[in-house]
Amino acid sequence: MMHINFILLFTILTSGIYYSDFTFEKPSRYVDRIFIHCSDSDWKHHDDISVIRKWHVEENGWGDVGYHYFIKRNGTIQKGRDLEITPSSQKGHNNKTISICLHGRERFTKRQFESLKKLCLEINTLYKGRVTFHGHREVTDEKTCPNFDYVKVLNLDKHGRMKGI
Ligand SMILES: [Zn+2]
Repeated sequence: MMHINFILLFTILTSGIYYSDFTFEKPSRYVDRIFIHCSDSDWKHHDDISVIRKWHVEENGWGDVGYHYFIKRNGTIQKGRDLEITPSSQKGHNNKTISICLHGRERFTKRQFESLKKLCLEINTLYKGRVTFHGHREVTDEKTCPNFDYVKVLNLDKHGRMKGI
């Protein structure tokens, strides 16, 4: 009995905490690209989608936070804008996309990368490999966003497809 409880506790600690308990479901609108972003902040008190939502709604005057997902420093995936709604995150390149933002500017954690991989694999599987993954910097001259090597983290080919799927 003790042993079973220990396994259960271990399972909760290793999966439930850093991965949120949801599975990705395809929106009814057409999607062909996934964009990766960073929050451009290493401040601990910015590490929550409610803060980003506040910036986007109160400062930008938008209807909701611009991103569909936010990945906290501890790897937790938070839901943002409804997937049925086009994001506001890559100016001129929002249509037919899903956007994911990791908290951080220069510092990112292994847990964040694990959660990003898990989420992108889920998305890629549901779309049967027909979507491509990109960093924000690919569609703008001014930014370095997402400030980490997403090509390596997601093991992408030169077109942005996840390899080995
Ligand atoms: Zn960005």
